[in-house]
Amino acid sequence: MPKTVIKNITARQILDSRGDPTVEVAVEAGSARGVFGVPSGASKGSHEALELRDGGDLYSGLGVGKAVENVNQIIAKKLKGKDIFAQDKLDKIMIDLDGTKNKSKLGANAILGVSGAICKAAAKVKKQPLYKYIGSLNKNKKFSLPKPMFVTIEGGLHGDTNLNVQEFMVVPTAGTIAESVRVASEIFNSLKKVLRAKKLDSDLGNEGAYSPEVESNQQALELITAAAGLKGYEKGKDYNLALDVAASDLYEERDKQYVLSADQTSLSAERLVSLLKEWADKYSIIAIEDPLDEEDWEGWSAMRKRLSDSLLVVGDDLFVTQAERLKKGIKLNAANAIIIKPNQVGTITESLATVKLAQDHNLKIIPSHRSGETNDDFIADFAVGVGADYVKFGSVARGERIAKYNRLLAIEEELKQK
Ligand code: PGA
Ligand code: ZN
Repeated sequence: MPKTVIKNITARQILDSRGDPTVEVAVEAGSARGVFGVPSGASKGSHEALELRDGGDLYSGLGVGKAVENVNQIIAKKLKGKDIFAQDKLDKIMIDLDGTKNKSKLGANAILGVSGAICKAAAKVKKQPLYKYIGSLNKNKKFSLPKPMFVTIEGGLHGDTNLNVQEFMVVPTAGTIAESVRVASEIFNSLKKVLRAKKLDSDLGNEGAYSPEVESNQQALELITAAAGLKGYEKGKDYNLALDVAASDLYEERDKQYVLSADQTSLSAERLVSLLKEWADKYSIIAIEDPLDEEDWEGWSAMRKRLSDSLLVVGDDLFVTQAERLKKGIKLNAANAIIIKPNQVGTITESLATVKLAQDHNLKIIPSHRSGETNDDFIADFAVGVGADYVKFGSVARGERIAKYNRLLAIEEELKQK
């Protein structure tokens, strides 16, 4: 059997960082083996491709035995013997085999597991770094390092406290990953001292960031600013901030209000945008992800008209990495940046197509982890491979987040030597 031919595909159930089951797939070609661990979200967009779960009592219904079986019994049979380098054709075979719009038959967790493992194995067969191989799939030869957005305080569905805004991120202005990591680590550890001094909880949430009880959502911005100040870092100069409001989780459809319980208030879309604008000016916020509900296309367009183009309005739940939804967003000028999460769409090929479409329309690209993660660092190579502008891999704590930042550090070293 030639070494560029898929010899074996096997899936198994492993645990993610929340202790819930997820799919891991291994693909073999020649002596090369690519292994991919599928991540899982908590604050999911309602249009995401479907994560197939077993239901029943075991693991509270979250087992992925069916998805594993779909890989081992159905997908493997179709793809064995095929050329490992035909990523788009192999992904298309799985899309057709599934036949549903949201990959609900085989499960997007089954399909992405195979798609990602194929990509990793192919890079090994080619003896190329993964980012370089991903670049070749997207016809990108210019590899630069993205700017990381480090989650430092988290709330919403990622913490068990009263904080409503899901993510408060630090974006160092430093020119390298090594320097960015240092600034983020220093601010993160300084924040621990600030929290302890105020008798606030410094335990970590789902993505490794602090998740304290707060007097208000704005207090989180004050706490980070204070922690950075203690290390001599100035906002707007040494670092900026970014938010993920994950507003769909705060939205009450009935009265069209966003509930900010920590602030004892509910706001209309217009008033929420005014508040975010005020925060952006005061705290040097450069990006706001999912500021409004995932169905409020008009609200997003109106927001963009009110804000300067230099503020990134980032679509995550709005676009769910899907070209269809991105096309609509481009037409309506709903956002100027997009989160890319391969498991929202279910294949590497579709993820790359969404990146390309966004780049062709000058949207900034922000590949991202999920709140439920494995130690897989694929997404770091993906970001460099497509020439992403930013990345979101969580805080500077917890192994499954660090794995991705450490991979960026390694790629940075490697590119420097060239
Ligand atoms: P999720 O959240 O992985 O829990 O969906 C991350 C995000 O909203 O960016
Ligand atoms: Zn988000």
